[in-house]
Amino acid sequence: MKLRDDLKRTDQLLQLTKDFSSRFLSVIDKLAADKVVKPHAPIPLPDEGFGGVTTLEKFRQRYGDQLTAASGPRYWGFVTGGVTPAALMGDWIAAATDLNAADRDSAAFNIETETIALLKSLFNLPEHFLGAFVTGATMANFTGLAIGREWLGKQHGVDIAKDGMAALSSLKVLSCTPHSSIGKSLSMLGLGRNNLVKLPALPQREAVDIAALEQYLEAHKGQPFIYIANAGTVNTVDFDDLAAVAALKKKYDFWLHVDAAFGGFAACSADYSHLLQGWELADSITVDAHKWLNVPYDAAMIFSAHPDLQVEVFQNAGAAYLGDPAAHFNFINYVPENSRRQRALPAWFSLLAYGKDGYRQIVENNVQLAQQLGALIAQDKHFKLLAPVRLCVVCFTLDVPEAQQEMAVNQFLQELNASGLTCMTRTVYQGKHAIRAALVNWRTATKDVQLVYEKMKELVIGKQVYA
Ligand SMILES: *Cc1c(COP(=O)(O)O)cnc(C)c1O
Repeated sequence: MKLRDDLKRTDQLLQLTKDFSSRFLSVIDKLAADKVVKPHAPIPLPDEGFGGVTTLEKFRQRYGDQLTAASGPRYWGFVTGGVTPAALMGDWIAAATDLNAADRDSAAFNIETETIALLKSLFNLPEHFLGAFVTGATMANFTGLAIGREWLGKQHGVDIAKDGMAALSSLKVLSCTPHSSIGKSLSMLGLGRNNLVKLPALPQREAVDIAALEQYLEAHKGQPFIYIANAGTVNTVDFDDLAAVAALKKKYDFWLHVDAAFGGFAACSADYSHLLQGWELADSITVDAHKWLNVPYDAAMIFSAHPDLQVEVFQNAGAAYLGDPAAHFNFINYVPENSRRQRALPAWFSLLAYGKDGYRQIVENNVQLAQQLGALIAQDKHFKLLAPVRLCVVCFTLDVPEAQQEMAVNQFLQELNASGLTCMTRTVYQGKHAIRAALVNWRTATKDVQLVYEKMKELVIGKQVYA
């Protein structure tokens, strides 16, 4: 039987896997940042199985040339981090040891508790926040909003966790420039996508107009609200004035959820930490790990200032063998997942391996490089920088007449990404078809910015469509 054979050659299989991984990482700088790949004809499920050695060969044949440098230095699409060497070590060990982080009396529990403490120190978040790992910022947003929903129910005398959303139908969710995952979360929570009210931004900004927010709250006084503050929008990394939003909580009762999926890393640098001033007053905060923390997919953290309400929503009650959730703290009573991978371990490795200073350098390096790219774009007549480079994202477009913009952006991005040198994403910013480059990978260096800028120029110079 192949499984018994593989048990005997576990060492060899791990060595082959290590060799494959090492080779991949040694050429990551030369691989295409992105490419469009086609699916293969389906592979039939074998009766007997091939065993690990042959299966690795099949993987190499079928997918070897489809692997891209999504975690390489010039993948600047979406907001995509890489994997630090120590994070990879932690991830391997998480799979090898395969502890279930649902178990209260296990190393996995202690590792998660310790990692959360390290992260609170990295982000300078106060002690009272309960942190927990979830699968991504979408789930962190979902979790924060679920606790907010419970809190709002309580303000109006109903227990939504027990009685369902039907008990409170007037709930509205306010935000200015919410991430797309917010609509998805509202749909999953039964709050409904259409109950999201988008408030006006300040002129030429993606940050909320505080006066407009206050006006809305005043006009709808007494109604239940969640406000989702943005601490780093995906187009221009704009931040709501979090201190001003938090100050409104004294006058108007609302749940403040801060989506700081990648903007939370501003806390790592004294140059940018002011952007987060006031986030310590939030009721719940989302921070992603698989973006700027540079750990592998998938991991994010939810920080909550209301563990008592959180356990009402997420307790896995009724399973006698798990004990009383109130008596025995266990993460599974505070997050959507029950059985859980050791998501904290890659973060634990990376945080201890590189420390506060290592993360400060990653963040400051990425910001400096984004500013470099922004400066090159600003002085080039073919391009137009659409917003100041506030942190790690450069938002720009081609300087062509408005009627040609969509076609020009599409064609430029298609050619740029097909070159394999980099990957950027298209967007619409203030009604303009635009391009965004997000630099959050620890590998990225000045030479990468130069290489990409040269390619950008090569694509536009002398081309009619961009004139
Ligand atoms: C990426 C992102 C999300 C969603 O995160 P996932 O990790 O993809 O689930 C939410 N909010 C913001 C601001 C983001 O940048």
